[in-house]
Amino acid sequence: MNAYDSGKVKALLGEDGFVPTEDLDQADLVVVNTCSVREKAEDKLHGFLGRARAVKKRREAADPKDRVLLAVAGCVAQQEGAALQRRYKDLDLVFGPDAVTRVVDLVRRAEHERVLDTEFIDADDYVFADTVDPDAADSPGAFVTIQKGCDNKCTFCIVPTTRGPELSRPSDEVLAEVAALVARGVREVTLIGQNVNSYGLKVAGERTFAQLLYAVAEVPGVERIRFTTSHPRDMGPDVVQAFADLPQLCSHLHLPVQSGSDPVLRRMKRFYTRDGYLDLVDRLRGARPDLALTTDFIVGFPGETDQDFEQTIDLLAAVRFHASFSFKYSPRPGTPALKLLDRGDEVPAEVAQARLERLQLRQKQLSHDANKALVGSTQQVLVEGWSRHDPGVICGRTSTFKTINFPGDPGLVGRTVPVQVTRAFANSLRGELATS
Ligand code: SAH
Ligand code: SF4
Repeated sequence: MNAYDSGKVKALLGEDGFVPTEDLDQADLVVVNTCSVREKAEDKLHGFLGRARAVKKRREAADPKDRVLLAVAGCVAQQEGAALQRRYKDLDLVFGPDAVTRVVDLVRRAEHERVLDTEFIDADDYVFADTVDPDAADSPGAFVTIQKGCDNKCTFCIVPTTRGPELSRPSDEVLAEVAALVARGVREVTLIGQNVNSYGLKVAGERTFAQLLYAVAEVPGVERIRFTTSHPRDMGPDVVQAFADLPQLCSHLHLPVQSGSDPVLRRMKRFYTRDGYLDLVDRLRGARPDLALTTDFIVGFPGETDQDFEQTIDLLAAVRFHASFSFKYSPRPGTPALKLLDRGDEVPAEVAQARLERLQLRQKQLSHDANKALVGSTQQVLVEGWSRHDPGVICGRTSTFKTINFPGDPGLVGRTVPVQVTRAFANSLRGELATS
């Protein structure tokens, strides 16, 4: 979501004549887009600002006409707002996720005064930016936002505070953006929102999420469709059916479970049970037998006992997730779970750390096993570009979202080719072009 927002900022500023640079010494405007989902992400902002402010000070001292505008965007901006401006007196602009579409005006104003914009826009007035990130358009895959904000109240999560209420983007706009991307060479679209399964439900006459998937599949030239993120409670049978019906829908689903223990899920206010989740997994695999599932886990949530954690480890193995993101619980300002900490339910840091390491080790084994099972098979791979490490080697993704590296010609970028898997690692595959 943040990468997508950064792309929009870059695109809108690009239309206004800005040219992107990664070099702080060259920049007339530095925009830091921020995440506040965990404290660690927030800490990165302060480290970066230290460096950016030093460059600004040095350059402006050397030549007062050499203005360097410094802007903080995103969820930390939304959360800290004026406090951020008080802390850093040389910050020119602070704007939240809802203000992304106004970035050009905000930058103009920031040339003359310090600007703060953390207003949430009313649903009736909100316009989703349709400017395409120029860099994203060079890649065969692109994100398309279908929804902003979130109406859930998972007790650990700051997203509803920083991104506001859920709002669905009109489906005709989504379809128009998909068509525009395909016209620019995009082959794979990933529909993004915090809770895509509740798409459209608040708007009379709007397509449901499942209907949107079928409509996207009808856009000529769309080879692959992915979506993220799905909340297990809201994933209806119609979306499960789409996995049976739509060949364009990739064989991968990110389905964050957070914990394998019912008491923990209850305290997180996730509104599904372990058995409910496992049942959904069965139905999904019934619809799409080769579906690769990935997930998110939080360990050390307040009150998590050893027994709760064993339930999580047990679920990990029962589902055989192909990969997962796992995090230690991080207390976020203003979130309901803080009350559990007040009650003294905090899990000691070293216990949480040990659980995280155990979970990640187990996941690594499972990921490796899932990858080993593919050795010898031929996978359809959408070629994305050069491999990061090896010259002469290109890389792409399987339908199951696995990165595969293989010797080949970069002229294949954007094409879907058959690749035979020759080796498996925990996080990637190695292969050879297959003669089809
Ligand atoms: N909307 C998505 C996820 C948004 S946040 C969903 O519902 O799944 C992405 C992930 O960050 C979450 O799935 C969760 O695992 C993790 N996360 C969110 N808040 C957190 C916190 N306070 N501490 C640790 N991890 C957190
Ligand atoms: Fe946060 Fe829950 Fe909304 Fe995801 S569904 S963004 S975890 S509140």
